[in-house]
Parts: sequence; structure tokens; C-alpha cells
Amino acid sequence: MSLDDLYQEIILDHYKKPRNRAPELDPHDVHVHHSNPLCGDEMDLRLRVGDGATVGAVAYDGDGCSISMSSASAMTEAVIGRDLDDALELAESFRLMMHGEEIAREDDLLDGVAFRGVAKFPVRVKCALLGWMALKDAIETHRAGAAEHRVTHDEE
Ligand code: ZN
Repeated sequence: MSLDDLYQEIILDHYKKPRNRAPELDPHDVHVHHSNPLCGDEMDLRLRVGDGATVGAVAYDGDGCSISMSSASAMTEAVIGRDLDDALELAESFRLMMHGEEIAREDDLLDGVAFRGVAKFPVRVKCALLGWMALKDAIETHRAGAAEHRVTHDEE
């Protein structure tokens, strides 16, 4: 099996057996809604902050393409239990990887690394980034003292 095939399998696995996909997270500290009009992806993400400012729990749900949903699934596994700052740093690593850059924290992305190949398809990059950007926004929204935020990722 080639690496590309392996990555395809991982992406498909997260699509068929999503991790931490749920319409609610009770209790949660912050809820964000992100949309990607380019593809039509809609995503809700809820974050519960653990003691000492960690990602205590995170749940996503939505209506979107297989890349957006499976990437969010892989994201949840990579960030749960991490300090919020560490999770933000990992989100930035993922973003850089999706822009074709070499990153030092590939291993920490766990299955997230399987989306590296999506960087070759610029139109799908926003799909793969959606869950990670929602997580980043949820942490920043929480830190700003708010509990809700809606973001539309227009053409940049
Ligand atoms: Zn999409």
C-alpha cells in the first residue's frame, strides 16, 4: 500500500466512524459555528475547557463534505487533553502543512497528517482546515470571555 493509499484509508475511516461527532456537548464553555461557502460546509464545534485550561472535551457536528468532516474528526483526537496554547500551536502546524510547508509536529497531528495530500488541491484546503479553524476560534472566543461565535470563511 502506498502512503497516499494509506492516507486515503485513514480519511475514509474518520468519515465512516467519526470520533467526537455529536450535536451537543453537555456541559460546554463555548460554541462556534463556521461555514465555508466555497464548498458549502457548515460546522458546529463545542469546547469544554478542562481544569488548568486544557481541551477537556470537544465535539463537532455539521453538514459538509467528507474532507471537512473527517478532518474535524481527526482534529478532535489530536487535541483532547492538550493545553489550550498547545492546541493552538498544533492548529497552526496543521495550517502550515495545508499550505505545503514542512512542519516539526507531524507526529502530534496523529491521523491529521493524512490530510497532507489535500494541500495539492487548493479548493479543498479550506475544507480540511475548517475544524481546526473552528477549534482555534473556540479557544480565542472563550479567552475573550464569550460563549458563542459565528464565522464565515469567505474567499481570502
Ligand atoms: Zn468541503
